[in-house]
Amino acid sequence: MRVAPSRILETIDRICLLGGAGVTGRARELARLYKAARSLAGEPLCAASARRLEATLHPGAAVLLLTGAGAPPRLPRGETDGPLGAAVLARGLVLAFGTRPLVVAEARFRGPIMATLDALADSAGDGSWRRAVRYAPFPSRRNSATRAAAALWDRVSPVAIISIERLGPNSRGVTHNVMGEDVTAAHAGVESLLTLARRRGVLTIGVGDRGNELGFGSIMTRRSRIASLARPCACPCRSTITCTVPAEVVVVASVSNWGAYAMVAGLAIRLGDARLLHHPKDETRMLKACVLAGARDGISAQRRLTVDALSLKLQRAVVTLLRGAVARLKASESNL
Ligand SMILES: [Zn+2]
Repeated sequence: MRVAPSRILETIDRICLLGGAGVTGRARELARLYKAARSLAGEPLCAASARRLEATLHPGAAVLLLTGAGAPPRLPRGETDGPLGAAVLARGLVLAFGTRPLVVAEARFRGPIMATLDALADSAGDGSWRRAVRYAPFPSRRNSATRAAAALWDRVSPVAIISIERLGPNSRGVTHNVMGEDVTAAHAGVESLLTLARRRGVLTIGVGDRGNELGFGSIMTRRSRIASLARPCACPCRSTITCTVPAEVVVVASVSNWGAYAMVAGLAIRLGDARLLHHPKDETRMLKACVLAGARDGISAQRRLTVDALSLKLQRAVVTLLRGAVARLKASESNL
């Protein structure tokens, strides 16, 4: 196994922190979240996640991808951050390891998730991976979550769970959106799957951009960190939006989709396989399909080709930069 140059892995992490400028306090919030995740991982986040995935995954193994965020009436079919990251990760994991990804979400998120996967398969021109990816429904009613998680677990025996922009509960059991509103009732209790994974020693990775997502419990549990990192909530629980559900690796990015792309870029470098990462044109096709299927921008709640209020142009630019970083490794190897 080749050792990836650490400089390129650092660059990949940094590319995925772009886009915080222009919104008061956002760049500082991102930097603090990243620092905490980095200190947990002890290496670039794309490297930590890729290393753990390579050690864990094998042909035919089931991997659960949790995504789907946003509540009616603003976001009845969820937001554009999440499905694209899940699709790119699903494709990367099938191509890299021959795994069987299952995208787990409530039925109302199914349309945008499937449309995004299909768009990537059409656009990337190598759609045979698509047949290995399935959607697994998860019941919306929170009181059946524990039973549903156990049943799904028994059926597929996953070897890893990766959560991408999936909101989770704070210390009072309340799940918040980024505005600090209580959206608990609108989100299924998929965190039960992470609880099972922890008990059984199965790999968990949480990708997020604000701290209210599953996985962030690992970096936000210390009192000092909660004070410096957590956004206050705006609901009667009078706490913070910080999700207390932990994950083994936490990936912080400006946009959660980009965190998933960083993981795939990390795998591309680790395995020396540049085809794992998608193209800017695939980004456009995926975003169009996702929005057409009902997803909206998570910040503006508009049916626009944006993710977290950041333009398609910027989404494409990040993919271009990530591809450039991966290509640098290839170039440096051919110069040896
Ligand atoms: Zn609250």
